[in-house]
Amino acid sequence: MTKYDYLVVGAGLYGAIFAREAKNRGKSVLVIDRRPQIAGNVYTKEVEGIHVHEYGAHIFHTNNKKVWDYITQFAEFNCFTNSPVANYKGELYSLPFNMYTFNKMWGVVTPEEAAEKIAEQRKEITGEPQNLEEQAISLVGRDIYEKLIKGYTEKQWGRDCRELPAFIIRRLPVRLTFDNNYFNALYQGIPVGGYTKMVENLLDGIEVRLNEDYLLKREEYNALAEKVIYTGPIDAFFEYRLGTLEYRSVRFETELLDIPNFQGNAAVNYTDRETPWTRIIEHKWFEFGKDAEGNDLPKTVISREYSSEWKPGDEPYYPVNDEKNGALYAQYKALAEKEENVIFGGRLGEYKYYDMDATIAAVLQKCEEVL
Ligand code: UDP
Repeated sequence: MTKYDYLVVGAGLYGAIFAREAKNRGKSVLVIDRRPQIAGNVYTKEVEGIHVHEYGAHIFHTNNKKVWDYITQFAEFNCFTNSPVANYKGELYSLPFNMYTFNKMWGVVTPEEAAEKIAEQRKEITGEPQNLEEQAISLVGRDIYEKLIKGYTEKQWGRDCRELPAFIIRRLPVRLTFDNNYFNALYQGIPVGGYTKMVENLLDGIEVRLNEDYLLKREEYNALAEKVIYTGPIDAFFEYRLGTLEYRSVRFETELLDIPNFQGNAAVNYTDRETPWTRIIEHKWFEFGKDAEGNDLPKTVISREYSSEWKPGDEPYYPVNDEKNGALYAQYKALAEKEENVIFGGRLGEYKYYDMDATIAAVLQKCEEVL
């Protein structure tokens, strides 16, 4: 007789929701995580009244009402709308690509003029775009590609835009309206009190052990439960036996500044090639610069974000979903399917560039299938 029905490896969004749903259905669950805290990469830490997104900015957005209704049981969300600013060598542009961007770039005033300009510049792409560069030029033209996309993308991914898949740039809306909302989403916001609080609520009443590395104590942990939900990197689970999947990692340089306002916005992207960081996040603006009582915060916390190729020992953040890695992942997935007692889930377990809402949709679907 094992002690638990489920062992959940990883206390991030996928793991926490699986654990919640299993518990709600009367199953016994143990959650472990190798980090000293819960919440995976959505973890937020409070510094001077500011919820600092320690593993990068997370802005919740979704069009999926089921997902929204689900997650709002565990947190109240504020009405933050993501509107990053692009800084190209000191020139500021509005993101995503919209009438403000086109006006600043070309001096065009009407949507018709903007559409004409784009149509003229996209002529250089004939046929279906084969990579990110062609896709970008075909969406917004070469000028915007050169100033707002090329440098940023090559820094973020460490690869030439011609070697990256087109779908990455299709994440960004292109609009002929004066609308700076980065997402086309019906629902958007930041959990009041921080993401850590939200995950704490998800894990309420569930046994969690921190600082526990499953891969180092696999036998011991497997003996505890009937089934394992594994949300770590799939290639690490199989001891990299088919080779390593590529990931991008991120390093943050975080500073507490004794000023109330550093950049006037939550996110400023540095889209030139020369600036070594990709973006600077000023965390207080996710909550309008106020503390829990609604007072203005006197200080600010900023994080410069540097992108790098993942190597063993680093934290993996982004799967590199190109052909080569896709093929290797397919082989690992075939191995995973033979593991009858293990479910692989989440960004790392499924090697997929999931947003939070897609992660939630995926885990809820999995729960319906297996619980
Ligand atoms: N991107 C860009 N310029 C920007 C912001 C984004 O070219 O100023 C491109 C870039 O290729 C990036 C992709 O859009 O990889 C997706 O960006 P997103 O903001 O969705 O990435 P995330 O927030 O997940 O890091």
